[in-house]
Amino acid sequence: MLAVVGVGVLAALAALAAQAADTRGDDMAADRLPPGPAREKRPGILAGLTPTARAAAEELDRLAQAAGLPALTWTSGRRTNVEQAAAMLSKVSRGENLFDLYKSAHDTLNALFATERTPAAWAAVLATRPPLSRHLTGEAVDVRRWGLTSGELYRLGELAIAAGWRRALLESDHLHLQL
Ligand SMILES: [Zn+2]
Repeated sequence: MLAVVGVGVLAALAALAAQAADTRGDDMAADRLPPGPAREKRPGILAGLTPTARAAAEELDRLAQAAGLPALTWTSGRRTNVEQAAAMLSKVSRGENLFDLYKSAHDTLNALFATERTPAAWAAVLATRPPLSRHLTGEAVDVRRWGLTSGELYRLGELAIAAGWRRALLESDHLHLQL
């Protein structure tokens, strides 16, 4: 009987650990990776970027490896309007303030919040507006920040600029890079 209770407690702890992982806002384990080639969360992330953005991503990968940083993971690149809408709604559900993040697109945000909070409804609004994110034009990529110390993240931001990215923005669970 004790053994059964023990298993139950372990299962409950495992469930709690899984919930904690979910609150990081991304999937997969937060393992610290040794230096090495960058990997993609899903196939095709780099392939979807513009040639200039792709070259900057590949250069950053080279620089990060040369600097001995943990292997990078690309988590998001070019997005459709529906994917952008889903990413923004995910931020809303995590309590993030989109008005802080998209400072030059408050009109679009007002239009979004005036409609139903679904990816389809928000995508329909996004389709009528100038692109509010470089992800929509294939000129932005996200890098997972788990497993990187704050010092490594700072170094990665510096290397990103050296690699040709114009902006490096630290967000809740990733470093956002854009041309
Ligand atoms: Zn991004």
